[in-house]
Amino acid sequence: MNIEDLKKQFKGELLLPEDKGYGFPDAWNLYATKVKPAFIAIPKSLSDIQELVKFAKANNVHVTARAGGHSMYSVRDGAITVDMRNFKDVHVDQNTGIVTCQTGLLLKELDAKTAPWHIPVGVIGHTGFGLIIGGGFGWTSRKYGFSVDNVIEAKIVTADGQVKTCNKKENPDLFWAILGAGSNMGILVEYKIQAHKMEKVTVNALAWPLSKEIVEKLHHFQVSHHQDRDLTTYVFLTIDKGNYVTIIQSLYFGSAEELKKMYEPLMQLSPNIVVPCLEMPLAKANCLLDDKLGSAWWYLTPVSCGHESDKCIPSDVIELMVENFKKVPTDSGALMAIEQRGGKPKDVAMDATAHPHRYHDFDIVLVYGSKEENKTVVDLTRSTREIIKEGLAKHGKLWKGLYNNMNSTAFNIRAEEAFLSNLPRIRQVKQKYDPTGVFLGNVDLNV
Ligand SMILES: Cc1cc2nc3c(=O)[nH]c(=O)nc-3n(C[C@H](O)[C@H](O)[C@H](O)COP(=O)(O)OP(=O)(O)OC[C@H]3O[C@@H](n4cnc5c(N)ncnc54)[C@H](O)[C@@H]3O)c2cc1C
Repeated sequence: MNIEDLKKQFKGELLLPEDKGYGFPDAWNLYATKVKPAFIAIPKSLSDIQELVKFAKANNVHVTARAGGHSMYSVRDGAITVDMRNFKDVHVDQNTGIVTCQTGLLLKELDAKTAPWHIPVGVIGHTGFGLIIGGGFGWTSRKYGFSVDNVIEAKIVTADGQVKTCNKKENPDLFWAILGAGSNMGILVEYKIQAHKMEKVTVNALAWPLSKEIVEKLHHFQVSHHQDRDLTTYVFLTIDKGNYVTIIQSLYFGSAEELKKMYEPLMQLSPNIVVPCLEMPLAKANCLLDDKLGSAWWYLTPVSCGHESDKCIPSDVIELMVENFKKVPTDSGALMAIEQRGGKPKDVAMDATAHPHRYHDFDIVLVYGSKEENKTVVDLTRSTREIIKEGLAKHGKLWKGLYNNMNSTAFNIRAEEAFLSNLPRIRQVKQKYDPTGVFLGNVDLNV
């Protein structure tokens, strides 16, 4: 591979292993510090990306794009990392709410620039565009759908080095595939997305010392309000100042007064921390958890479950969750979440987008991490996942599907689990646009 040829065309920065600045020492997911890409390219223009892709294909080297760096798949050993940090343009049509944006934006930057129009994104503001590329679910998705459900058009550099516009009429097969399997198809550069006006929302949080009884009551509260798409609630098991705690946090499209009333039964359970119902702009609400999850070696592991809305996660499974969460060392960062899903994504057919996971009403997700690389934490993530999964399976409550964006080295999601019955069609599109497999997605299509 003669990088001098590329240097003649490339206007951005190229960082080789021997160069100062090579690597990602400040990455949010410190796993990136362990990985040694062939080189890191920081393109300045669309033509830089095209040259890179042509160079990679000619030299038979894999390419991965990097946005917010939350995943373990944007920096790979021996591959070229394309760091999209210079691609941060945003334009909002104030009449229609259509947002045209580039893919180097962190989600908190996107939210800040589009307000009061917003795209459904995740619950952590320092996540990047990879979330939208892989599906995208957050506080506002029960009302407005997955991120990908709102995409109107995208521009992508494919393996032949060409820029392709894709939408429902132009390259419709590619358009369908990028709505969930985008990281496998090329380098996405720009999106047109329908945003929704969300002026103000109300949020609150209550916390208790961790116990099975409280987690169960909080989950029952989630279930009892499940039909109300204006309310989305997550129950977290976590560690605060060395203590195991459980937190319920909500986002509500309505007034503080109304949310306070809904929460009256939970206030009777004497929470020891009360964050009162506060009305605030959505851009702020989407970042409330940001400090809780700082830079570390993070392992993200989904335990999918296909609960019907009127049925709760069984009591004995909640017991397993609490019991096993208490095995996490109290000096590590850890979050086990019961995420409320369902709502608008469920109105859409599973094959409408490459991202198929529309059947859930609740998801259990483990986000375990530590300041140093720590095998005990990885093993604990894996074993806890297996224990909860077996517990759910006993009740016939386990779906085989797993959200591709939650892939991690602690639990490697197979393509069949990530894309379910959409996989053959995704593979066909991959074969058409990237037959030699230049791009490595966050889930390997061959596994
Ligand atoms: C703490 C935490 C909270 C999370 N919360 C949520 C949540 O609320 N909702 C949710 O849906 N998901 C959530 N996730 C999962 C999240 O969606 C994935 O981790 C996502 O892949 C992260 O995107 P990123 O841009 O930050 O990461 P990156 O590692 O930069 O990218 C992720 C993937 O996208 C690819 N990619 C990035 N940019 C491009 C591009 N321009 N073109 C093609 N491919 C590209 C990368 O190659 C990689 O495969 C969360 C993850 C974590 C760790």
